Amino acid sequence: MSGCIFCKIAKHEIPTEFFYEDKFVMAFPDINPVAKVHILIMPKKHIKDFMDFKNSSGLKKIKDVIQKIVKDQKLEDKGYRIVINGGGAQIIDHLHFHLIGPLGKKVSME
Ligand code: AMP
Ligand code: ZN
Repeated sequence: MSGCIFCKIAKHEIPTEFFYEDKFVMAFPDINPVAKVHILIMPKKHIKDFMDFKNSSGLKKIKDVIQKIVKDQKLEDKGYRIVINGGGAQIIDHLHFHLIGPLGKKVSME
């Protein structure tokens, strides 16, 4: 989709480091990390919102990539969070999963 910054990243029009890339999936660092590890994992295809994500095999591919990155980043027993913002909570309208860690069990209410 023209004008979509994550489509531009998928097409290598914006240079970034890649943690993972194949034909369908890409993983790259969040430009504004909220923890030591903050990686975005997305389908290369422009899918606007989680509710438009109809493809089960695409979901499985992303799950496999996230699990690989959790292992690569040694987060398996360090605490991590996987987040999808949707329904207007997202800033970027190109489906992506945030992998954030390491995190403790306590969630601050402040
Ligand atoms: P969301 O609110 O789920 O749409 O989050 C969008 C995320 O994308 C934010 O955490 C931003 O810091 C991140 N972001 C925005 N532009 C870029 C970019 N060019 N490269 C990497 N991350 C980005
Ligand atoms: Zn896009």
